[in-house]
Amino acid sequence: MWIGGQWMDSETGETITVINPANGELVGSVPKGGRTETEQAVRAAEQAFPVWSGLTAADRGSYLKKWAEEIRREREPLARLLTFEQGKPLSEALEEVDAAADFSEWYGEEAKRVTGEILAGSKPKQRILVIRQPVGVAALITPWNYPATMVTRKMAAALAAGCTVVLKPASQTPLTAVFLMQLLEKTGLPPGVANLVTGAASEIGRALMENRSVRKISFTGSTEVGKQLIQSSAGQVKRLSLELGGNAPLIVFSDAEVDRAVKAAVGNKFENCGQMCNGINVIYVHERLVEEFLQQLTERVRSLRVGFGWEPGTQIGPVIDEAGREKVAELVRDAVMRGARVLTGGRLLTDGQLANGTFYAPTVLSDVTYDMRVTQEEIFGPVAPVVSFSDEEEILKRVNDTPYGLAAYFFTRDIQKAFMAAERLEFGMVAVNGTSLSVPQAPFGGIKESGQGREGGHYGMEEFLNIKYISMNL
Ligand code: ADP
Repeated sequence: MWIGGQWMDSETGETITVINPANGELVGSVPKGGRTETEQAVRAAEQAFPVWSGLTAADRGSYLKKWAEEIRREREPLARLLTFEQGKPLSEALEEVDAAADFSEWYGEEAKRVTGEILAGSKPKQRILVIRQPVGVAALITPWNYPATMVTRKMAAALAAGCTVVLKPASQTPLTAVFLMQLLEKTGLPPGVANLVTGAASEIGRALMENRSVRKISFTGSTEVGKQLIQSSAGQVKRLSLELGGNAPLIVFSDAEVDRAVKAAVGNKFENCGQMCNGINVIYVHERLVEEFLQQLTERVRSLRVGFGWEPGTQIGPVIDEAGREKVAELVRDAVMRGARVLTGGRLLTDGQLANGTFYAPTVLSDVTYDMRVTQEEIFGPVAPVVSFSDEEEILKRVNDTPYGLAAYFFTRDIQKAFMAAERLEFGMVAVNGTSLSVPQAPFGGIKESGQGREGGHYGMEEFLNIKYISMNL
């Protein structure tokens, strides 16, 4: 853990081990911190706040730009570590590390663009100033699926805004966060501005929530834990940003280019072994195209190379752990029981060198219907269920009929339909004829039970700023 500029173990000396999901081997361990260390970290952040928030925005930004440089310099070892603890192919880990650096660089620039406003007064001698100020100490809780970008996307925005932070990474993938903090230390960041606590999530979460000095929580993870955080934040009315679960549809309209839609579907659906909150959950294809779509999709999915992420050519790694894999297997069993057809995959991969990992075969399901759990729940695994539809109006209603609202994708060549569907879809993000969403300048986030608040762009920084209005009377 990194607290007040010092690297330290937990008070009790206890640790948690990090296991490689591809082969079950030990990758390393981190301290099992709890309430004591969390309180220490919050104190350190609180003490560092006046100095950090008092720096010029340009100075704060320069640390972030240096952090980006350090990350880029260490991209290979950082990506390898990420692959070992998380499982994703090295090529994807490298992309993630590059994206992590981009977020830090972008916020390093954006720090300088926090502004205010002067409004017309209500009396001749009144001046109204609106200024933005950092909220104070922010707690950042990150998930295991993107262990590098989730850290910088939150932390760079918070630091740029002038907040000091306590980071609690997911227990499955804390080593990437440790490495990132070591690189941040190299920038010469003043002690206590950023702190890292690893260990028991619920205990650390509770300590953060009960601490009056923590004014903001930024969380990415399950809807279930997100709801707990909303409840526990009520006592002190803490500000919250939540990036929670999703159920993203991909709609392939009757006039879509099938090749392009299939390629994008595979790229998005099978990225990170299907473990992406904004990843496509279910694919809805117009009945006129469905046969061709399924054929191309199955062909591509069948050829995906499953294996150890660190071996060249691997495209699909393991599911993060046994519980995750079991959930995927259960959803597929449910679909098959209700009449879905398995066109490829549909089983655990346990042969040869994959025996000690948590691998699941890349899967395509056809004849999928709305009573199947795969259409209602977030799959979070390498399974592509395909639903055939005929009525465009009905399909828009159907996909909106979910408690989630993070991302939606569709393909069409009709400009009219593109605008109509983009506006009708009840999701925080919509991608048309493509799937790229997470970029530094754009507001990433969801509506309904997918969360609140945004990450990325100036929107992401607003989350860490309070608005103050000063009525000045001359
Ligand atoms: P996932 O399903 O992605 O594992 P979780 O919501 O369980 O999602 O975890 C996301 C992050 O939240 C992780 O860093 C995890 O350690 C942390 N976490 C889990 N439970 C709590 C809690 N009760 N309070 C605060 N953080 C928590």
